[in-house]
Formats: sequence, C-alpha cells, structure tokens
Amino acid sequence: MLGIMQDWPLTVDKIMEHARGQHGTREIITRRVGGEIVRTTYADVYTRSKQVSNALISGGVGLGDRVATLGWNSARHMETWYGAMGIGAVLHTINPRLHPEQIAWIANHAEDKVLVFDTTFLPIIEAIKDHLQTVKTFVIYCDEAGLPANSMGAMAYDSWIAGQGTTCRWGDFPEDTACGLCYTSGTTGNPKGVLYSHRTNVLHTLITMGKEAMGMGADDVVLPVVPMFHANAWGLALSCPATGANMVMPGAQMDGASIYELLDTEKVTITAAVPTVWLGLLGYLREHDLKLPHLQRVLIGGSAIPENILRAFEEEYEVDVIHAWGMTETSPLGTLGVLPPHLVDADIDARMEQKLKQGRPPFGVELKVVDDEGNEQPRDGKTSGRLLVRGAAIAGGYFKGDGGNVLDENGFFDTGDVANLDSYGTMTITDRAKDVIKSGGEWISSIDIENIAVGHEKVANAAAIGIYHPKWDERPLLIIQPQPGESPTKEEVLSSLEGKIAKWWTPDDVQFVDEIPLGATGKINKLALREQFKDYKLPTA
Ligand code: AMP
Repeated sequence: MLGIMQDWPLTVDKIMEHARGQHGTREIITRRVGGEIVRTTYADVYTRSKQVSNALISGGVGLGDRVATLGWNSARHMETWYGAMGIGAVLHTINPRLHPEQIAWIANHAEDKVLVFDTTFLPIIEAIKDHLQTVKTFVIYCDEAGLPANSMGAMAYDSWIAGQGTTCRWGDFPEDTACGLCYTSGTTGNPKGVLYSHRTNVLHTLITMGKEAMGMGADDVVLPVVPMFHANAWGLALSCPATGANMVMPGAQMDGASIYELLDTEKVTITAAVPTVWLGLLGYLREHDLKLPHLQRVLIGGSAIPENILRAFEEEYEVDVIHAWGMTETSPLGTLGVLPPHLVDADIDARMEQKLKQGRPPFGVELKVVDDEGNEQPRDGKTSGRLLVRGAAIAGGYFKGDGGNVLDENGFFDTGDVANLDSYGTMTITDRAKDVIKSGGEWISSIDIENIAVGHEKVANAAAIGIYHPKWDERPLLIIQPQPGESPTKEEVLSSLEGKIAKWWTPDDVQFVDEIPLGATGKINKLALREQFKDYKLPTA
C-alpha cells in the first residue's frame, strides 16, 4: 500500500526558490578577484540565476549537459550553480589548483560544454584551450569593461546574462536527476567523478542543517573559506540559502589578514576551512593582538585538527570548534565532532580529547569498521580497521563507471580510511590506508605523530611517512618544516613526542625541509614526499 501524500521532488531549485521567498533580503557578500567587496541578496541571485539558465538554454545546454566552473567562492559562482542545476544541467566544479593537464583531462572526461572561470585562471585556460575537446562556450566572471584580452572568444559573464529573461521553468524532472559533478583529487591514478543527484544534495542539506551538524539559522553569517570546488563547500552553497544565513565569500584571498578582515567587518558567526587556513589566521591574530568577538563556531575538516589549533580557538578565542570528517564521495559530511551529551559539562581536557576525534555520524550516515576479512570490529574506541560508509548522500559508484563496483554486498563504500569507533559511535581516524606505517606487522598512526609534532612552537608543518627497514619492514621518518626563522633540532622535535605516543612509534629519524608539499585541497601530499625520500636510508637500517 502506498502513502497518500503529495509528490514534491527533492530538487535543489526549491532551495533557491525558498531563499528568494523567505530570505530575499539576506545577503551574499563577495570579495572579488580585484579586491573590491560587492553585496547582493538572495532575491537578486535568484533573478540572475534565472538569466544564467536562459543563457545556457540559448547556448544549447539542456538536461544532463555539463557546465564547468573554475571559480572562487562568489555570488556569481552561486548564480551559475543554481542557473545550471535549475534546468537539470550538471554543474561541474573543477579544482583550479590541479595541474593544468589534469584540468584538461577532467574537462574532457566530463565532456563539459560550457566553462565559466575567474580572471585568475585565464593563463591556465589559455594554456590548455587547444586540448579542450568539448567546451564550446567560454565565459569569464567579470563585466564588459573588465574583460581581459583572450584568444578563445570568451564572453564577460555580466554581458552573457544581461539580455536574458528573468523567468525560466526550473525543476520539473525526477529528483534522482544528476545535478553536480566533482572529481576526487586522484592521488593514485586518474581522478574519478562523483555525480551528485538533486535528491542526495537536498537530503544532505537537510542533514547539515541539524543542531548537531552546522547548526545554523537565518540570523547567522557564514564564511565558507572551503571552496565550492571542494565537495560543494561542504554543502554550504546549499545549506546557507536553505536557512537564509548570509554568505561571505572570500574570493581568491584566504590569507590570515584577509580572512580576519571579513570575520570582523561582516560579524561572521560560522566559518569553515581546512586546518592550514586556520594556521594563517591564528598567526595573524597573535601578531596583531586581535580577538574574534563575533565568531561562534568554526568547522575544521579535510584533514585531522592538530591540538594546538583546537586549543587556540577554544581557549584563547572562545570559539566552538567542530571537527568534521568527510569525502567528496560523502557529499561530503560524514561525521561531526559535536560533544555528545555526557561530555558537554566535562572538564576542558576531556572535551578537547573528544574534539580531536572526528566525531559522530548524523542521521543519514551509517559507519562500520571492519578488518581485512570484512569482520565488523568491536566499538571499543581502540580496534582499528577499514572504515565503511553507507547513507542517504553517499556515492554509489563513479561517473562513467570508472573504478567499477565500489560497494560491498551490503551497499557499503570503502572510504580508504583506517579508523575506530567507540561505544557512543564516535569515530577516530588513525590514517589513510595507503599512508599507514607498518612496523613489525603493527600499524603506526602517521596522523597522531604529525599532530603532536606540529604542536611544537618551532614547527610549522610535519609529516610522518614509512621508510623501508630490513628488520621491521617500515619505520617512521618524521619530516619537519620549521617555522620561519626557527631551526629546531632532531632531539627537540622527538622529545615533544615523548610520553604522548607509544615508545615504539617514535620516528627513527627526523629530516628538515623548506616546505612540505600540499595537494590541491590543502592536504599534505604524501605521494610527493614518498617520492622525494624514496632513496633515503634510515640510520637504524
Ligand atoms: P576529499 O575527498 O579530497 O575531501 O578527501 C577525503 C579524505 O580526507 C578522507 O577520506 C580522509 O582521509 C581525509 N579527511 C577528511 N576529513 C578528515 C578529518 N577530519 N581527519 C582526518 N582525515 C580527514
């Protein structure tokens, strides 16, 4: 027997319709590439999104066609997003930090028809344009006066949409229609496309609006430093208009001074980014003796939070930190480190210990930890294994079938992370499966070592990798990027680990480098480090 309820397809155009109707005067504030701050409202973004839809339709774009962006977070980027999704086209956000060859490969694989990009990326597009096999229309985020000379006949975005009508039929297709495409970073092999549907994006939005997730409302001012090309700005491009929260878009400037200026002048209450961004902000705050009176909550994810960042926000600046774990494949929020009820009033050390863990899955996400034979591991907060995930907004495969079947017989997706769960469902990541250091048959967590090492005042960044050892298979090598002007010694670095990790986890050696390489989403590029140190011999070998 079927229920007798209305059919209301879960399509993301309804989010922008709602934002216009209920929160039309709430604002999107953008720092443009040129540095100027521009203000607009959800009502205006709605109208201009409709013009984008009409511009796309008149350019021959229809249901299922891919529209790519290479753009910073901005109001115009939001318009492209909703304009494309509204008519059932697929908005494909490309990460501009990837190698240009990889960008061309991704655009060809996705068969993008339209490419809209910020002026910053014109040199990249000029360099790869002859390799782009399917892009017919190039558009640059600027007005006619600001249109840079270019050899691909690109139009100025404002002119592209200017003559277009402001009405256009949105939605009207099944809720499982594709609406967004985002490629994983592809550290091994070619990147793979995660193809979100309208339904999964709407469900993910509902999940993230909960009190134990982003927990925001119409009176919040949200600064997504995390880019829209990094897993939908962690869903904020959808959940902000859904709640009516103001959005503050940082554009290309994500250094400490620029982020502080926006936090302060716009009275931002919630912000989100990877840990490296926060290192920059905290350095700036201390240098200029500044406070964060308006900021209530900061979401930190993408890689594990080092304890010094957590404690700085919580203890020095009285900002609530929410540690989040997720992946492009999980839309992306998988767990959130909101304190469980029994720890809300615990002492500061107990709360901080809990917040260093990746957190608990909200309703709609199921987690499981298994050993190599697929046996579920006990939820004892200790026993680690492969982390599997299943849920309302989790990838069921990759675009064009790449990677084959990625689900097990129970429909779970293997995250490639190694983790444990405790009896409250709190998940702790100990490593990426491919980064785990295997010493004498036991696993050493590179994340634990790194997070303690970056807590040392003379250390800017730290990475632990496994190096071949004749007796133990692998032993840890700790690679340190010192703070500018500092020269920590091997002994100083190693003594900071003493008593905080098992003795046999202590790295066999420490190497100092000018810069630890970061990948396209701001995470340590272990592949590059392993390549750099492939001929390195440990003194203990
Ligand atoms: P991406 O799809 O590029 O966002 O990468 C997802 C991967 O980033 C996950 O599988 C984890 O390995 C890592 N990651 C994300 N959030 C965290 C976190 N809070 N702690 C540790 N690793 C994380």
